[in-house]
Amino acid sequence: MNYQKAVTFSYDDGVTQDRRLVRLFNRYGMKATFNLNTGLQSEESRFTVEGMPVCRMNQEGLKELYRGHEIAVHGLTHTAAENMTETKLEREFLTDAKNIERLYGKYPVGMAYAYGCYDNNTIAYLKKIGIRYGRTVGSTHSFELPRNPLLLETTCHHDDDRLFELAEQFLSIEAEKGHPLLFSVWGHSYEFDINQNWDRMERLCHMLAGRSDIFYGTNAECLL
Ligand SMILES: [Zn+2]
Repeated sequence: MNYQKAVTFSYDDGVTQDRRLVRLFNRYGMKATFNLNTGLQSEESRFTVEGMPVCRMNQEGLKELYRGHEIAVHGLTHTAAENMTETKLEREFLTDAKNIERLYGKYPVGMAYAYGCYDNNTIAYLKKIGIRYGRTVGSTHSFELPRNPLLLETTCHHDDDRLFELAEQFLSIEAEKGHPLLFSVWGHSYEFDINQNWDRMERLCHMLAGRSDIFYGTNAECLL
């Protein structure tokens, strides 16, 4: 790693609230990874979370929206990756990866597991098709880099009670030479609307931004 301390974000599902989140990240110089389901990327794809309708975005314009950030695999159809046959794995992950390459000009190197589900077979398959990291929904509450990037856990979710405490700790900690530290946060941008707490992300970005000793990178840039 070419950094001592880094910050990264990971957001899933390509929903309309990503527009506001990207604007926020861009304003503070934050870099993020957005995990997309290319088989569902249209505003006809709607679902309800805690009574609130959530809507994916149409494909058009997403390349421009996410410019400067990373686009990664989240499965063609957002299916839990357990006990999948080779045919199913190919459809869900290789097709999604190839769609991303076709639409955004770059074959992805990372992914996030839909529903946080995976098994050994899935991991072996992802390796085979050139996917080098996979984000789970686990939290470490620490800043250690993952031993196995295909079982990546983040520091925490943005709604974690300890978010700001961990951010303070990260800012004040002195990284030792040869032991890089990573502060990573994940979530879904629609959660900020559901919980009416966009100010939480604003506050976090404000805390973390503009530090000369911190590298702001996408998941791939911080992990690989
Ligand atoms: Zn998802």
